[in-house]
Amino acid sequence: MSLRAWLCMAFILFAVIVSALLWVLEIVLLQGFYYTSKIKETQKIAASIVNQYGSDNFDQFLTSVSVSNQVCIEVLDEQGRVRYERDVMNDKCLLHGPHNYLNALMIKLQTNGDGMVSFSSYDEHLGLETLVLGVTLYKGQEVQGYLFLNTVLEPVGSAVNILKELLIMVTVLLLVIGVLIAVYLSDWLSVPIVRLTRSARRLAHGDFNTRFVGGSYREVDDLARSLTYAEQQLSRVDSMQRDLIANVSHDLRTPLTMLKAYAEMIRDLSGDNPVKRNAHLQVIIDETDRLTMLVNDILDLSKLENGSIKPEMQTFDITARMQDIIARYKGVSEKMGYHIHFQPDEPMQVTCDPAQIERVICNLINNAINYTGEDKNVYVRQLNTPEGVRIEVQDTGHGIEEDKIQKIFDKYYRSENHKREVVGTGLGLSIVKAILKMHEFHYGVSSKIGEGSVFWFLIRNSSGSS
Ligand code: ADP
Repeated sequence: MSLRAWLCMAFILFAVIVSALLWVLEIVLLQGFYYTSKIKETQKIAASIVNQYGSDNFDQFLTSVSVSNQVCIEVLDEQGRVRYERDVMNDKCLLHGPHNYLNALMIKLQTNGDGMVSFSSYDEHLGLETLVLGVTLYKGQEVQGYLFLNTVLEPVGSAVNILKELLIMVTVLLLVIGVLIAVYLSDWLSVPIVRLTRSARRLAHGDFNTRFVGGSYREVDDLARSLTYAEQQLSRVDSMQRDLIANVSHDLRTPLTMLKAYAEMIRDLSGDNPVKRNAHLQVIIDETDRLTMLVNDILDLSKLENGSIKPEMQTFDITARMQDIIARYKGVSEKMGYHIHFQPDEPMQVTCDPAQIERVICNLINNAINYTGEDKNVYVRQLNTPEGVRIEVQDTGHGIEEDKIQKIFDKYYRSENHKREVVGTGLGLSIVKAILKMHEFHYGVSSKIGEGSVFWFLIRNSSGSS
């Protein structure tokens, strides 16, 4: 069942319950309620008269009470003689006129222990119901007199009929208003939900530009925010997946072709020639290493670019860290004739992800080693500046042409003139760029043809800006 149907049902039920309550209260209980309140009111009048009894303006008080409440009053002394009387009901009164039940009432009051008598009586002749109330007047313990009140109890029949008509109108009105409110409310509640459902369907069909608009109330705003978040995550995963598929299919093809070709060569040609076979096997091993490196780089770059990896910030001494890194290079690179010169500045604490920044430095040093000149020198510098620590990696190689500088940080860019023996995936600088962007660190390169290049980045002070 739809939200609108549920709400309509709820409001109709509410209207029916309210109407039923009104009918019961107004029609069934009206008579009893009227009688009870009339008795209470008459008792109050009696109490006020008892209070005023004996005061100077008692006479005047009786007249005003009698007229304003349309009640006949009879005050007798202890002998039963009439002391005061007010007649506003003429012959309808049970105390005066033809009925005059005064004596009978007085006897009843005297025999009644609690000094009070009250009853209603219906006079068929007059077609009227009246209420009689009598109380004994005391002075201390002694009986001082008697007070009797008589008032008409109006018939409630005609009032009930009028009320019935009114109640029919009220019931119809309640139902109509209930349905109108239900329709309005259900629209108000359901329109944003329907809108979000439509957007969610579009998202399910792969439209990651769907906008999730909230509505007039908080819950639907929360839902819109959650769906937007889910969309961002899905889109991230989706683009990562697309990227991966594209990159993997593009970049794995070449090494795989090589692997297959050399494996076939071993099978068909060099299998029996140990020298050639070993040479071919070495190519297979090198290509496999390259493949592993490539797959790792592809995965890492995808994760970095999609925000799956977040920097784990730590404060550490960058000078000590760089000394460690250079020390690790020394053994391997110096065997191959490379000289890595580290020029540190004063020891400095920096705040960033140490593992990722180490990767940046290593990638830059790897490139410098790969592309440096005949002198095989690489210079690594730490420069403390007011903005932060600037790290520079300089080589003495061929340098990079002006028009290529823009491209070297792009994915899979490898300049055509790089040496074939230089092992690389074309992803090293893209990973550097992704890490530095994630840290919001500035970076750059300056290069002169024939002189070499300087790659640099700035580890921004945590309080300052780079
Ligand atoms: P890879 O080094 O694996 O080819 P990179 O992303 O690290 O991939 O570098 C992209 C390209 O930028 C390299 O192929 C090279 O042409 C150029 N490059 C990077 N570093 C240097 C450097 N120090 N000197 C000259 N060219 C460089």
